[in-house]
Amino acid sequence: MKEIILVKYGEMALKGMNRSTFEDVLLRNIRFRLKKIGKFSYAKAQSTIYITPETESDEERDELLNAAMLRLKKIFGIAALCRALTCEKDFQNIAERAVPYLQDTLTAAKTFKVEAKRADKAFPMKSPQICAELGGILLQNYPHLKVDVNHPDVTVTVEIRDVNAYVHAAKEKGAGGLPVGTAGNAMLLLSGGIDSPVAAYMMAKRGLRISACHFASPPYTSDRARMKVEQLCEKLTPWCGSMAFYCIPFTEIQEELQRNCPEEFFTILMRRLMMEIACRIAEKENCGAVITGESLGQVASQTLPAIACTDAVATMPVLRPLIGMDKVEIINISRTIDTYETSIQPYEDCCTVFTPRHPKLRPVLAEIEEAQKEVDFAPMIERAIENAEMKVFAQHVSENQNL
Ligand code: ATP
Ligand code: MG
Repeated sequence: MKEIILVKYGEMALKGMNRSTFEDVLLRNIRFRLKKIGKFSYAKAQSTIYITPETESDEERDELLNAAMLRLKKIFGIAALCRALTCEKDFQNIAERAVPYLQDTLTAAKTFKVEAKRADKAFPMKSPQICAELGGILLQNYPHLKVDVNHPDVTVTVEIRDVNAYVHAAKEKGAGGLPVGTAGNAMLLLSGGIDSPVAAYMMAKRGLRISACHFASPPYTSDRARMKVEQLCEKLTPWCGSMAFYCIPFTEIQEELQRNCPEEFFTILMRRLMMEIACRIAEKENCGAVITGESLGQVASQTLPAIACTDAVATMPVLRPLIGMDKVEIINISRTIDTYETSIQPYEDCCTVFTPRHPKLRPVLAEIEEAQKEVDFAPMIERAIENAEMKVFAQHVSENQNL
């Protein structure tokens, strides 16, 4: 049975964006995501991408289609997708093959309707006629069914295109959003916690290509903590595509802070230094923004005055997609994107190791700047950037198929 996948992108998503850029980037992302599972050919027409598995074996085709559907559901820019049967452009052929193809779906349904899309106006039957005749044939073969044009359990769609005709039942929802790469690049501050991976997912959904940086303070933070963060990068690649990951040595700066700065200012000074370094690396990576997983009021460093103190050192916009969200909402997303279980592994992060007992809830920028002047951080910042280790996470070869 010749089956393919139809990928639809919403016209809504295209608003304000050049169609060919949108299509090209989406197609490139799809090819990249599917290349590890097998050979496919691609075509596009009328807000649809046609993905055909290149194999003669029915069994292999089925496997390819299953694996591709799982991956495609995580690619931003896709509004809906479905498997579809390829038919010759001949009504008899369409009807004969649609009956067995739709067996499982129609047996499980009580009501249905047929929709036809006739892109090829030379096709001898008009859409209403296709619907009526195919509807009749399906009713004969599945006599328990009733037609319901308003709220059918199943909508059977027949698309008459240039070369072939396609039959499919319900479309599945895609990940939505904009194709990664259409909105530019951004640098994520990635801790090992629950929030920052969710922030990455949310901004990748708006079309940003994500790079990530993580501040590690060995020996206070362990190798396991770093491995956990790398695992988070791996878990993000199905959504974000390939990611450059920088691990930045932060021990020297944190020890210096501890020795020379008032304890109540630790957290805020640490965040300012992280922000400064992140912006520097972001500039190197051609990023137009940095992203954090902060949510207003969640902890002491996420009050409005604290955020103002951190932003004062940023050299580009700081995106905080979780700013108005509750922890429960954030956790729900992290479960859906499968980062939760990794995030809750108990390895210490550099923030937790150096948490002051009484952090300042309303830091005043002038005071913070004064405190920061006590130490000349500039050479340490340079060393941290110089000694950062970079690693690229592309799609995970052994990516769990049933995620
Ligand atoms: P998360 O769950 O993302 O760790 P959090 O609620 O623990 O967030 P903080 O520890 O205050 O809050 O961190 C706030 C944000 O600062 C994080 O979401 C992340 O963007 C950034 N951040 C914190 N620690 C690090 C780190 N070690 N490396 C890189 N970024 C960090
Ligand atoms: Mg944290």
